[in-house]
Amino acid sequence: MKRIVFVVMAAVVLAALPARAQGSDFSKVEIKPTKVAGSIWMLQGAGGNIGVSSGPDGLLIVDDQFLPLADKIKAALKGISAEGKLAFVVNTHWHGDHTGGNRAFGKDATIIAQNNVRKRLTVSQDRDGHTPEPTPKEALPVVTFEDGVTIWWNGEEIDVVHVPHGHTDGDAVIFFKGSNVVHMGDQFFNGMFPFIDVSSGGDLTGYVKNVADMVARIPPDAKIIPGHGPLATVEDLKKFHTMLAKTTDYVRQEIAKGMTLEEAKKAGLPDEWKSYASDFITVEKWVETVYTSLKK
Ligand SMILES: [Zn+2]
Repeated sequence: MKRIVFVVMAAVVLAALPARAQGSDFSKVEIKPTKVAGSIWMLQGAGGNIGVSSGPDGLLIVDDQFLPLADKIKAALKGISAEGKLAFVVNTHWHGDHTGGNRAFGKDATIIAQNNVRKRLTVSQDRDGHTPEPTPKEALPVVTFEDGVTIWWNGEEIDVVHVPHGHTDGDAVIFFKGSNVVHMGDQFFNGMFPFIDVSSGGDLTGYVKNVADMVARIPPDAKIIPGHGPLATVEDLKKFHTMLAKTTDYVRQEIAKGMTLEEAKKAGLPDEWKSYASDFITVEKWVETVYTSLKK
């Protein structure tokens, strides 16, 4: 039984990680910079969106995608600020598509993350059926926090706030208060079903609650950098929350009717939610995530 559970979990994790499992061709990836507001930029390439604070103090980045992209990310940062030295990297959580570049950037910059991010990187938790090599010292967070930390940088207050047990158990949301920009990490997949990493302490109920808390907390005119997907507004975040709440209710009713997981997956979801499907999280996979979470 234990073995079956393990195999199923490994399959779930594999299915959720196409970029890693299938070996992306990073040579074809371009890093696209977008000016967001105030001192903040967004970089998109492969993996999680990167937030950049650029100003008189230098550069701070939120997440750093995959190691093979580090030189392209450095070039993009040079394009934003020719002189700016990278001083800080904030990791929103431990996943490899957000921390892979730590090995390159951690040599010069100070990495900051929630306590559980360092713990999970240190134990090199298995994610895709391989035993990964241990994370080298220079790629580990140097400054860690439990509930949050504030960085005073480039003329503004940058609040790094831990959101518990949602996407993982170590996620942080970053508020650039002067620029009125928020980086939500993987607590926000804009226009897509999210991945909830239960094996890393993630939880559906916690995830939905964290999103609701952010809808209430983020100023209505703020710009939001999601972990994945295009630059967003609070309206987009509200839509995401509605999708989470309604699809959860839908699956809850199916369970109440006595439907099995297989029946629920086969039935899928009403048409209005189908556009949220990606190669990463399909309708079936999302139904399974919700069903198994509610059944726990
Ligand atoms: Zn993630």
